[in-house]
Amino acid sequence: MIEQNHTAVWDRCLAIIRDNIPEESFKTWFAPIKPISLEDSVLTLEVMSDFVREQIEANFLDLLGKVLRREIGPLASLVYKVRIANGGYISQKQGAGHGYTNREIAAPEAAADYNGNPYLIPGLRKLNIDPQLNPQYAMSNFIEGDCNRLARAAGETIAARPGRNSFNPLFIYGGPGLGKTHLSQAIGIAVKERFPDKQVLYVNANTFLNQYMWAASAARNNHDSNQISDFLRFYQLIDVLIIDDVQEFADKKGTQNAFFHIFNHLHQSGKQLVLTSDRPPVDLQGLDQRLLSRFKWGLSAELTVPSYETRLAILKAKALSEGVDVPEDILQLIARKVKTNIRELEGILFSLTANATFSKKEITMRMASELIDKIVEQHEVEISVSRIQSVVCNYFHITVDQFLSKTRKREIVQARQIAMYLSRSLTKTSLSSIGAQLGGKDHATVLHACNTVSDLMDTDRSFRNYVVDIEKQITSAE
Ligand code: ADP
Ligand code: MG
Repeated sequence: MIEQNHTAVWDRCLAIIRDNIPEESFKTWFAPIKPISLEDSVLTLEVMSDFVREQIEANFLDLLGKVLRREIGPLASLVYKVRIANGGYISQKQGAGHGYTNREIAAPEAAADYNGNPYLIPGLRKLNIDPQLNPQYAMSNFIEGDCNRLARAAGETIAARPGRNSFNPLFIYGGPGLGKTHLSQAIGIAVKERFPDKQVLYVNANTFLNQYMWAASAARNNHDSNQISDFLRFYQLIDVLIIDDVQEFADKKGTQNAFFHIFNHLHQSGKQLVLTSDRPPVDLQGLDQRLLSRFKWGLSAELTVPSYETRLAILKAKALSEGVDVPEDILQLIARKVKTNIRELEGILFSLTANATFSKKEITMRMASELIDKIVEQHEVEISVSRIQSVVCNYFHITVDQFLSKTRKREIVQARQIAMYLSRSLTKTSLSSIGAQLGGKDHATVLHACNTVSDLMDTDRSFRNYVVDIEKQITSAE
């Protein structure tokens, strides 16, 4: 039997553990542990309660396994001695990192105590947090399309194995009305359905921000920091934390700092984080670099603008779930006209059915197109072919003369094609008029350009990003 100095070995283990977990967790879970012996690579540790053992295994097993193998060798294993009320022990053997447990009950009378569960900390295990989920946002109501396939699939995986997957955090981003709130809620609902005991919490970044500010100001005014530690502790209890619209954290240093601690704690404990934002991590200005790099640890999935087919499928599903009967050609009209925002798409459907109900008239194509014109096209009338041309030229750093010239240079041809494509989708100008304004081309050339661009957008991601970017510039900076 080889005896080693268990105290020195455990001290070295502690030093590494301390560097890798939040100080608060270290103090709670590791500092009170007493090393008892180290024989033949078996380290025996005394922990205060079985609850502590359980927490350590649930949250720090990977880390502990690695540290033990590093300090003791590949055969390292662990025996816990759990001190119980009557002075006996429950001991548990643990192969480092394998996760198997081989429970031997050392003191016979311990069994009764253990079964009677003397370690239940009231209010902690029984804790029941309202997850703040809206059943309307169930996954079954979230229509799948190319625009959301990756994010939706990642969401399904998370629902099956929260925390223990490579999508942690899942970072969902996309423009307004593209389904970020819906999908992130759907993930929470699906987790709750499969694991009712898991603590799931959906919170908007603004709410989180206000909670933190409130705690911080209470702490300042009363000169005690309990409010902040309560805030942190609360969030550290969550198994699946969903924070919507994290771009709201921009320039909020204190909140970011608090969130950083919560993020680390949860991530290290194998808990799941789902974050949404209106832009990708690289574009999140005003966010701490430490947070941004963590956002990229898992998977970033974009929600993009839905295709016509997906828009139509969403409209049909909404009409069905609302129990309204809208003729197919009208749904098609709405799907054709309302392209960039699903909230707007739904909005049109609902106002249309509401109008029809109030006026006791059948929904007609005319009624639909008037309403669409009122709601959607308003902000499109100011968009002119010449505005599109100038944004495109700016974007690619080419002059208007180059743009209008007869050159067949690839970049120029492509810029022209993009301008034609956008003129067609963003204005009501006819194909021949677009052609005439953009370098004296005929309508067949414009049509060909539109098809080329839309094919490329389907197959070339970076090309699509250009077009989406340009479109944003055209439609936003009025
Ligand atoms: P965001 O949070 O990205 O601004 P929301 O999640 O609030 O967008 O979505 C806006 C509306 O569109 C919601 O009513 C939502 O239910 C609906 N919606 C978005 N994506 C889908 C989808 N794929 N299927 C069905 N409805 C959707
Ligand atoms: Mg939202």
